[in-house]
Amino acid sequence: MVTKEETHTVNIDEEEEDEDYDESDHCFTKCISYFLVSLISCILVVAYYITVVELCIFTVEPLALKLTFLVTFHLFYILCVWSFLRTILSRPVTPPAKFCLSESDKKLYLSEESQEKKQEILVHAAKDLPIYTRDRKGDVRYCEKCQVLKPDRCHHCPVCNVCILKLDHHCVFLSNCVGFSNYKFFLLSVGYGLLLSIMTSAMSFYCLKLFWTNRLPETDSKAPITYQAWISTVLSLIFFPFLYSHLVLASNNITAMSDGDEDDDDKHKAGKHSKMYDLGFSKNIRQVFGDKKIYWLFPIFSSLGDGFSFPRGDATDIEKNAATDN
Ligand SMILES: [Zn+2]
Ligand SMILES: [Zn+2]
Repeated sequence: MVTKEETHTVNIDEEEEDEDYDESDHCFTKCISYFLVSLISCILVVAYYITVVELCIFTVEPLALKLTFLVTFHLFYILCVWSFLRTILSRPVTPPAKFCLSESDKKLYLSEESQEKKQEILVHAAKDLPIYTRDRKGDVRYCEKCQVLKPDRCHHCPVCNVCILKLDHHCVFLSNCVGFSNYKFFLLSVGYGLLLSIMTSAMSFYCLKLFWTNRLPETDSKAPITYQAWISTVLSLIFFPFLYSHLVLASNNITAMSDGDEDDDDKHKAGKHSKMYDLGFSKNIRQVFGDKKIYWLFPIFSSLGDGFSFPRGDATDIEKNAATDN
């Protein structure tokens, strides 16, 4: 195990992270989130109608092609909607009770005015906990709002107003935090969203080509199929860089929040992330998707670990294996 003396300093200012988020900001973000979730749900419903009814049933004529389109579309559609729902409906996980201060420590902490004394209380409370990262000032990270010692990679979400384990980001498109409990589902949502967009775009342009070359008579289906062709092409172009950037982060075991350490401060300032949790490509992917490859493509929780302690890239190979083989 990594010794308690080997602490790392995270590059995030706790004040920045916990900046005041007033009630109007909260309501505004929630309203935008509900609107975006409704919009995505509408796009999915309309895409289903156009692809199944207008394109497959009314337009495509060869039976074999019709069935191929229907089966392939339904396969990816079900996986996409399933992943999307699991990302939205998974409750973000908060730090377990052992990270809360005891009642006596809490009273002592609140009665104390000196920051140094407060730190001493926190350091004492954290001494038996698996906490190895400190804030930029070198202090034990403590959330005043949730009244918990923050585990490594845990951050306070100002929108949900709660500390989330391995917080990646708060996603307004999903009206939920993306963290330890749903990061795999989030990646699958974006991945299947991209595949579905590419597939519906290709199917729509295939039909449009038949319309344009007069191999199909003009019907009422041409307008919705044209709409779908362009919308799904635009969505593919949005999803691709988004998925690529998140896969790069996941393959390096980095969250969108800062996981930096003191040594990498210059790198962070230069816009680069620290790789203190980097275990190598294969193990990084298994941290998110799990050891059993059979579950990788399904939105079933299979991420490794407990969400509050993580094998570190600077641990020995034996420690890395012990941490990833459980
Ligand atoms: Zn908090
Ligand atoms: Zn949140």
